[in-house]
Amino acid sequence: MKIGIIFGTRPEVIKVAPVYMKALEMGLEVRAIATAQHRQMMDMMLKVFNITPDYDMNIMTQNQSLNTVAAKVITYLDEYITKEKFDWIFVQGDTTTAMASAIAAFHRGAKVGHIEAGLRSGDLYDPFPEEMNRQVIDRVAELMFAPTEISAYNLESEGFSKERIKITGNTVVDALNFISEKFDLDKAREKVIDVRDYVLVTLHRRENWGTKMAAILEGIKRFSLEYNIPIVFPVHLNPKVREVVNPILKEYKNAILLEPVDYITFLSLLKGAKIVASDSGGVQEEAPSFSKYVVVCRNTTERPELIQSGFGTLAGTTAESVYKALVNGVSVNLTNLKNPFGDGNAAGKILNAII
Ligand code: UDP
Repeated sequence: MKIGIIFGTRPEVIKVAPVYMKALEMGLEVRAIATAQHRQMMDMMLKVFNITPDYDMNIMTQNQSLNTVAAKVITYLDEYITKEKFDWIFVQGDTTTAMASAIAAFHRGAKVGHIEAGLRSGDLYDPFPEEMNRQVIDRVAELMFAPTEISAYNLESEGFSKERIKITGNTVVDALNFISEKFDLDKAREKVIDVRDYVLVTLHRRENWGTKMAAILEGIKRFSLEYNIPIVFPVHLNPKVREVVNPILKEYKNAILLEPVDYITFLSLLKGAKIVASDSGGVQEEAPSFSKYVVVCRNTTERPELIQSGFGTLAGTTAESVYKALVNGVSVNLTNLKNPFGDGNAAGKILNAII
C-alpha cells in the first residue's frame, strides 16, 4: 500500500507531520508531496519537523490566483500519481492545495483520505474559499477523518454513510504534544520576547482584509491600553495583512510585532499569553491544550467546540465587540474545562483506519 501525503501551507505541515512521521514509524510506504502554495512559511514548518519532501511542485508566484494554484496542483499531482501508483492520497483541511489534490486523486482512482473532515461554518463564502474546499474534498473522500463528534455529525447530516467517517481527534494535538515534549518552550519564548501575560494576536483571513481587520486591531489596542496588557503579534507575511497592521500598531509602544515565528516559538508564545485574539483555525484548536482563552475575531466559526467547551467566544469583527470579548474573556476561569480537540493519538487512528 502506497500513500502520498500532500501539504502546501504552514497549517497543513503542522497537521500532516504527525501522520507522516507515524507512517514512517509503522514502516508504511509513504511519500511527502509539497505544493509550496506558501513557500516560505511551509519551509519554516518542514524544518521544525525535519521533513524533506519527496516531491516539490514549487508552484508559488507573486499575486497567485486560486485558479492558477488549483490548475498547477492538478497537473503536477496527476504526473506523480501516474508514476507512483498511489493507493491513497491524504489531504488535510481546506486549502486550495488540498481541494485540487483531492480532485486529481479522484480522477486517477486513488483513494482520498481527508484529515480534519466535516468542519462547516454554514456560509459558503466565509471562510472563502475554504468552506467550498472542505465540502468538495468530503464529496470525493473514501474516508473522512473527523476530528470531533460535531464534525462527524455534520457529515452524517449531509448523508455520508457512517462507514466512511472515523472520529480521530485533531492531529494538531499530536503535533503540539510532540513539540512540547521535545523542546523547552519557556526558553524558546525568552529568545524572542521578555514579557509575559500579553494578548497574543494572529490575523490573516481573507474575509478580514481591509476595514474589518483595522476595526479588530482598534478593539485589541483599546483593551491593551486600558488594561495595560502588551500585544504580541507575529504578523503574517501577506502584504494585505501588513498594510493594515503597520499603521495601527507599528508606533504603539506596548505592541511587539514579530515576523512569523517557527512552530516551537509560536507554541512558546501561546504558553506565555494571558489571552488570545485570532482569526486562525489552528490557533483555536491549540489554545485549549495550553489552557488559554481565544477571542475569535470572525463572524462564523467551523469550530463550535471551542465555544461550547468554554475556551473561547465568537467575537465578530467590530472594534467594540472585540474589545468587549477581551474584557470578558480575561477573567474567565478555565480550570477543569475539557480539551475538545482530541487526545494526541489522531495520527495512529487515521493510519489504522486505512490498514
Ligand atoms: N503559527 C506559527 N507561527 C506563527 C503564526 C502561527 O507557527 O507565526 C501556527 C499556529 O500555531 C497554527 C498555524 O500556524 O497552528 C495557523 O496557521 P494560519 O493561522 O496561517 O492558518 P489557519 O490555521 O487559519 O488555517
